[in-house]
Amino acid sequence: MNIRTRFAPSPTGHVHIGNIRAAIYNWLFARHEGGKFLLRIEDTDRERSTPEAVKTVLDAMAWLGLNYDEPPVYQSTTTQTHLAAAERLLKAGHAYKEDKGGTGQGECIVFKMPGTDMAFHDEIKGELKKAAADMKDFVIVRSNGTPVFHLANVVDDIHMSVTHIIRGDDHIENTYRHVALFQALGAPVPKYAHLPMIVNAQGKPYSKRDGAAYVGDFKEKGFLAEALFNYLALLGWSPGGDREVMSRDEMAKLFTFDRVQSSAAQFDVQKLEWMNGVYMRSLPREELIAGARAAMEKQGVWNDAIAPDYFARVIETLGERIHFFTDVADQAGYFFSDEYPYDEKAVQKRLKKEGALDSLRELRERFAALSDFTAAATEQALRKLAEEKGTGAGALVHPVRVAVSGRGEGPSLFHMLEVLGKDRVLKRVDAALARFAA
Ligand code: GLU
Repeated sequence: MNIRTRFAPSPTGHVHIGNIRAAIYNWLFARHEGGKFLLRIEDTDRERSTPEAVKTVLDAMAWLGLNYDEPPVYQSTTTQTHLAAAERLLKAGHAYKEDKGGTGQGECIVFKMPGTDMAFHDEIKGELKKAAADMKDFVIVRSNGTPVFHLANVVDDIHMSVTHIIRGDDHIENTYRHVALFQALGAPVPKYAHLPMIVNAQGKPYSKRDGAAYVGDFKEKGFLAEALFNYLALLGWSPGGDREVMSRDEMAKLFTFDRVQSSAAQFDVQKLEWMNGVYMRSLPREELIAGARAAMEKQGVWNDAIAPDYFARVIETLGERIHFFTDVADQAGYFFSDEYPYDEKAVQKRLKKEGALDSLRELRERFAALSDFTAAATEQALRKLAEEKGTGAGALVHPVRVAVSGRGEGPSLFHMLEVLGKDRVLKRVDAALARFAA
């Protein structure tokens, strides 16, 4: 069997993570089976499906590497086939015309449900069925002559020879109608796999109100596409064992419906952030540097005077602390400007403490005497002074950190001092001593 799956978004200007996860599962399944993954843009709502809204979908797919195997089908161009199918249904007695509400505005075409109980096998949810009494006939062509979603969706799936329909479980109710349409049109009924909803901590459908919900939001926030892809793939599917961080190819190799859960999947942004950190740490150095620089440019804080070599050393020093490219400017702006803000809490706790400024003054003199301002040298000088004073190293480490960076936490102090350099460290310590002396 030639497996053919498709992603069939209705462009609205945003791509919700629930939708793109459906695209990911379609992609993974098609790749697992050596089949084809197709894209159909359901752009029949001309008001919402603007060219920009379509571009948003295409951009999201490109960013996530969801490549499709045939040119996209635009539903707005297939209307004639939908209407022809409706005519066939009329002729065969599967549909009838009706003047709904007797408004005299013309007749719509209504599909006649078979009148029997219906059942289908879902690859994820198992056997699903519905009683005849609960299924009503439904409109397939409006009185203004436009096809309704159900008809367009099914007819396009027939024309695209789709074998597996993988979509959100909010479509289950539609599926009974769709199965009846496939049968009435004499087409093979595809296999269905309905995916569990993505929910928030309260078990309600995850929405914009809960935080970032659209692919663009995550891109904007600086998440890596690989991390978002990996995380969303695991939101409802597990390859077994405790495997989590996997390449797309590995996931495709392992993807099967029997490991997709049928109950709702809870979105956990902390886990996604963790995963993003894992991917950030595995980035090649040049990519990390380029990404950090691009983020700073976008944040408007890049400065051409920043030497490439200096920037590379800053990135190296920050190392695992970078979870997002934007962290560089957000957490370590002091590397690039002497005008860094002082965190009030850190100042209170570390500099306004009894004896802290005196210790800092002594440490400044030790630093000033160093000819070689390496991490090893500053560390040795600091530890020696701490020993002489009979205090822990912390009594010196914290004040100097706050003085030179304005912050209570950060990368390894001694590496930070080395990157900043002796002159700047002394200047900053002096400025802090002057500023915070009571
Ligand atoms: N345009 C529909 C949606 O986005 C398609 C559903 C389907 O995959 O069949 O919900």
